Amino acid sequence: MSETFDAYVITRDEETKTQSGGWTTVSTDDLPEGDVTIRVRHTTMNYKDALAITGKSPVVRRFPMVPGIDIAGEVTASDSPDYKVGDEVIMNGWGVGEVHWGGYGKYARMKSDWLLKKPEGLSGAQCMALGTAGYTAALCVQRLQDAGLTPEDGTILVTGASGGVGSVAISLLAALGFTVAASTGRTEEEAYLKGLGATEIVDRNTLSEKGRPLDKELYAGAIDSVGSTTLANVLSKIKYDGTVAACGLAQGFDLPATVMPFILRGVTLAGVDSVMAPKARREAAWALLDKQLDRAKLAEITQSADIREVESLADDLIAGKVRGRLVFDID
Ligand code: NDP
Repeated sequence: MSETFDAYVITRDEETKTQSGGWTTVSTDDLPEGDVTIRVRHTTMNYKDALAITGKSPVVRRFPMVPGIDIAGEVTASDSPDYKVGDEVIMNGWGVGEVHWGGYGKYARMKSDWLLKKPEGLSGAQCMALGTAGYTAALCVQRLQDAGLTPEDGTILVTGASGGVGSVAISLLAALGFTVAASTGRTEEEAYLKGLGATEIVDRNTLSEKGRPLDKELYAGAIDSVGSTTLANVLSKIKYDGTVAACGLAQGFDLPATVMPFILRGVTLAGVDSVMAPKARREAAWALLDKQLDRAKLAEITQSADIREVESLADDLIAGKVRGRLVFDID
């Protein structure tokens, strides 16, 4: 049976080559193909969602598009043997919100391969408080652990600290016993970042301009969501045999670095992608979050927001004015 509902839909005018978005009534018949239909209960806004809504970057590659790369909800119809009606599921990435309709509406239809069972110890709202940003932070932490880094090796630097990836990365690293330095442009957020578990605050301006190819060995590893000159400077400050997990481009997608940290200090630059990460890696990342993340810190990171305000929230997020993570309830 079909049902109509409101969704935020982005359309593109091919003549003027411009996109616009707004709330539109759509039907479950309009949903894209997939073997599982979900009643979306919660979603969130990631950097990528904000890029899609503002049109600042060509994130959306098929129109009309319902953005929302993260979904938590329950199955309302399923042709998959893996899911039955009523199952609580989450979904992150896989090109959803880019080429396949996402979570900014009451219903979504997905391929069952993209879904995960909701982790037992986290509510749907908590899963969205984490969302792709939190799950990516967990993937980054796992890259550092896979490289053999332990708390005894020294301090881990987290850049973009007040953002979604950064905030969750700090909390998770602190829960695992690591000493964390937080690089931020919002030094007024020192109390917030220390509350999450950072012991040292680094002014991001000290990392954003071109520095030396090799600098003092300060950090055993780093999680970088900023890219560009910041990542180049981070690499130059990593101790011998250290690892940097790189997942973002908040400053830029360039990397004006030299090979010196790699060839003289054996530093590893480990790339992290959340969108196409295989299912086993996703399940491990969510299990790590479920097991280790301090729920009080998660609450500290989270703000409930009204999904009707996605446009102004997207502007704020791109302008770096949103602290931590936004969660939307879908009525
Ligand atoms: P947020 O916008 O929440 O956080 C980004 C943070 O980066 C900001 O809060 C700010 O932190 C810092 N920042 C912003 N602009 C600049 C700048 N010009 N120079 C230096 N620092 C800056 O985004 P998310 O945490 O959700 O995502 C972070 C990055 O990771 C994004 O680039 C995103 O696209 C990417 N990403 C990649 C994924 C992947 O699969 N590889 C998955 C998820 C995200 P502060 O104010 O503390 O300095």
